[in-house]
Amino acid sequence: MRKVELITTGNEILSGLTVDTNFSWAADKFSTNGIIPSYHVSVSDDKEDITAAFSTASNRSAFVIVTGGLGPTDDDLTAETAAEFFGVELNYDEKSYLDLEEKLRSRGRNVLDVHKKQAMFPSGSQIIKNKTGTSNGFKFTFQDCSFYFLPGVPREFKAMIEDFVLPDLMHSAGPDNYILQKVIKTIGLGESEVAVKLKGLNIDDADFSYRIKYPEIHLKLVAKSGSLDEAEKIINKHTNKINNLLDDYIYTDKDEPIEKVVAELLVENKLTIATAESCTGGLLGSLLTDIPGSSEYFLRGVITYSNESKTEILGVDEDLFETVGAVSDEVVHQMASGIRQISLSDIGVGISGIAGPGGGTEEKPVGTVYIGVDYMNHVYSYRYNFHGTRKDIKLASAIYALDKVRNLIIKK
Ligand code: ATP
Repeated sequence: MRKVELITTGNEILSGLTVDTNFSWAADKFSTNGIIPSYHVSVSDDKEDITAAFSTASNRSAFVIVTGGLGPTDDDLTAETAAEFFGVELNYDEKSYLDLEEKLRSRGRNVLDVHKKQAMFPSGSQIIKNKTGTSNGFKFTFQDCSFYFLPGVPREFKAMIEDFVLPDLMHSAGPDNYILQKVIKTIGLGESEVAVKLKGLNIDDADFSYRIKYPEIHLKLVAKSGSLDEAEKIINKHTNKINNLLDDYIYTDKDEPIEKVVAELLVENKLTIATAESCTGGLLGSLLTDIPGSSEYFLRGVITYSNESKTEILGVDEDLFETVGAVSDEVVHQMASGIRQISLSDIGVGISGIAGPGGGTEEKPVGTVYIGVDYMNHVYSYRYNFHGTRKDIKLASAIYALDKVRNLIIKK
């Protein structure tokens, strides 16, 4: 297998301002297709450094993917440096310029002289069309090495890898080892509780690791094999075992957040939902409405932060604030039922808790959160003790509320 190298360019990356997601995304994409990169280099916007990177790469790799520096500004030096390194002229490509002109006009932007630069490519290049942005990329074969030059903007970079580079690499390089991975996402247990449940799970033909994405615990399986079928078999075998052991705590093994899973369940079951939030300040409503099409199931959300608003809007019995307090089972019960009744929704959710850092007591320390769910007139409530910062506690409350809704829907 001939070696693949990725070069990411830009001062932003080397100064730490921009995280090099182009590399991690592409490496993952290549690996899952059996092409594991041998080298990854990040280089500044300096011509000398870029030339040195090209020179090293051309000596040790057969395929080199370069990202960044194809734009119209002075610090975009990639095409110019490449032409000098390959020992060819920069040529003007009329078609690329006309495409660019049309794209800019359709976005209401002026076409400036500097844009001509984006239509200059090393002579002998094959143009790689950029469907989502303005800078086309190019492929250049230098000695025995194929160089692919792509823009830095992640959306454009990804589309061009998928449409052009990956198929080209698959054709020329062929797969070596297939690496498949799966992330299984859980809510409701801490890391050690997950570990106890998975005790006895014997995984010796794949990598298995935990990742904490508070308040969730994600389990990552990575299988490597000479055949895609075999890698798939390994992943499926372990996924099934983990599913049996963790059961309802798993909300997905796909690349999707809990709010998406809940949204799909609501739509599938033709259910509507309304929220009454105190300590989460609207976060639950915000997560639910992050999903396109949310108007199909999300009817309304209120932030009832003060005791008065809980009574005025949701009809919470005001005596409860004196007897059991605003952060209590009884209050979230009435919040959930109140919002369900005034919204005429199938599901109502109420959340009240102490996000801190102040306000905790011995009986109800910071992180105490009650979640009430009125599911078609049956009310369920739950008490939690979350930890972390104010933000962590708010997030955990909203995520756990979503998971309770998920569990109730799948059990009904
Ligand atoms: P354009 O033609 O749109 O100017 P370009 O090829 O000149 O694209 P850059 O100017 O290098 O690309 O980068 C554009 C933006 O893309 C950067 O500001 C940065 O936000 C993002 N970007 C660049 N390289 C990477 C990378 N390796 N990983 C993630 N994001 C990146």
